[in-house]
Amino acid sequence: MSRRDDLSATLRSLEGASYGRYKSLSGRWDVGGVGLEVLRVQADPFAPPSRVRLTVTDAGLPADLYATADRRRALAAFLLRGLRRALRGTPVHVDAGGPEVLDRTAGTVGEDGVVVVEVGVPFPGPKRRILGREAATLLGDTLPAAAREAIAGADHDAARAFVETVEDAVALRAALAGRGLVAFVADGAVLPRRSGVDDRPLDGATPFGGPAELRVTLTAPNAGEVSGLGVPEGVTLIVGGGYHGKSTLLRALEAGVYDHVPGDGREQVVTRPDAVKLRAEDGRAVIHDDVSAFVAHLPSGEPTDDFSTTNASGSTSQAASTVEAVEAGADVLLIDEDTSATNMMIRDARMQQLIATEPLVPFVERVRPLHAEHGVSTVLVMGGSGDYLGVADTVIMMDAYRASDVTARAHEIAAAGPPRTVEHTGFPAVTPRVVDPGSLDPTAKGKRRVTARGRDTLTFGADDIDLSAVEQITDRSQVAGIGRALALLGDGVLDGTITLAEGLDLLDAELDRGGLEALLDGRSEDLARPRRHEVAAALNRLRSLRLKGM
Ligand code: ADP
Ligand code: MG
Repeated sequence: MSRRDDLSATLRSLEGASYGRYKSLSGRWDVGGVGLEVLRVQADPFAPPSRVRLTVTDAGLPADLYATADRRRALAAFLLRGLRRALRGTPVHVDAGGPEVLDRTAGTVGEDGVVVVEVGVPFPGPKRRILGREAATLLGDTLPAAAREAIAGADHDAARAFVETVEDAVALRAALAGRGLVAFVADGAVLPRRSGVDDRPLDGATPFGGPAELRVTLTAPNAGEVSGLGVPEGVTLIVGGGYHGKSTLLRALEAGVYDHVPGDGREQVVTRPDAVKLRAEDGRAVIHDDVSAFVAHLPSGEPTDDFSTTNASGSTSQAASTVEAVEAGADVLLIDEDTSATNMMIRDARMQQLIATEPLVPFVERVRPLHAEHGVSTVLVMGGSGDYLGVADTVIMMDAYRASDVTARAHEIAAAGPPRTVEHTGFPAVTPRVVDPGSLDPTAKGKRRVTARGRDTLTFGADDIDLSAVEQITDRSQVAGIGRALALLGDGVLDGTITLAEGLDLLDAELDRGGLEALLDGRSEDLARPRRHEVAAALNRLRSLRLKGM
């Protein structure tokens, strides 16, 4: 039921009233054909903005554009981006996100084509007195006009191109496993970004071209046949001189777990959904990890199959992140020498001679068994050590941003020696952990907070979780989604008997079935859907985490 009185007139009548009277706006208004509901009113003008929901029932969008869940996700992203453009220069916040197309609470398209968006609106009143005329313009004119322009007035051709681009990426990604591939990079893709802080494609970049030996052709429902580099399962090395585009290629593979907007350059760069970027992260906490695959013994005499620390070294942090990724169900590991602990990655023949009692088992000895015994592939950027040439199934060389296949030559060089002695074989099973759900209660210790503090920090109850080294997180709203997912894991999903991996399966099933509503639990805030791997990464970095039976 809409309120029949006029929102603008009501606001004007509140001119000069105390700020708290904005609360009287609650309820649903009809503003020129757009439904407007004030979901939450900020306590004062300096608090985070009030939240307003806009509903457009007669958006007039072609029905095929919202016929599937993937299309609805894409269409919602398209409309949110349009709304953000329409509101540029106003104080209204639209959580339209970056180049990744994620499920977001800020915008949804229903199976019936009804569009609902939620925006942040700072209600004006700098002196704690309502600025009624200004609020009337913002809420009564600007906001509904922008919604009509961006949603009812959306460009249907552009919307269709957007939806089809996303649908193609989904199909290309889904085709990978059946073709024995971990990733695909279409010819012509633009991989480099403008800068470390600017996600837009680099102007004038050399378009990607895959080598003939690794060329595959996949079929996308809208674009048809697409050819490019197929990165096979197993162990793949990316080699090449410094500054030749190795890390850029790997970063594109990291991003390939998400769909990208048209114009991004990586629309047809796709990676298996369970690909996880790993890196060294000294200083992180480790809670009861079995790192025995990589650490044979510790100088302190602590057990390495049940290793905890509040302050990991580079190598133990990377070892922990590796076994945690496998535990959470990763089937592809993405590693860059630039951000790896050298002693975790390599131990060459000369160092083997000098140091007989090295406790670290270098990744080079575990990378093949990891695939053979656990089905986990690795893509590794390694320009600095030849030790990996002998263990790689595929070697891709980047030379002036161009990729070539140098596998045969790499294997010749490896065979010609000098050989390193193999000190360890196999990859021991990772012991599944059972989390104590009581340790995932953000309301414990009297704190009731789950708050994303930007892209890098999640406040969860009394803890601040440092996520800066979890590189596949996209944005603040995804961090908020991770926080809510942790709380949900602790409140009904994990029961103290099932393993963490089983809990993540249940979480994924819940999100597939019920969408982000399952995370919101009646609240209204900007959330984006996280992957299970980033949820697990946050859980593993929660310093107050407890395990059952530990
Ligand atoms: P590497 O890891 O081999 O040292 P990077 O991937 O870091 O090299 O790339 C080095 C620089 O080259 C970066 O500034 C990057 O943006 C740029 N670059 C990478 N790929 C391309 C490309 N295809 N066209 C133009 N510039 C590129
Ligand atoms: Mg690099």
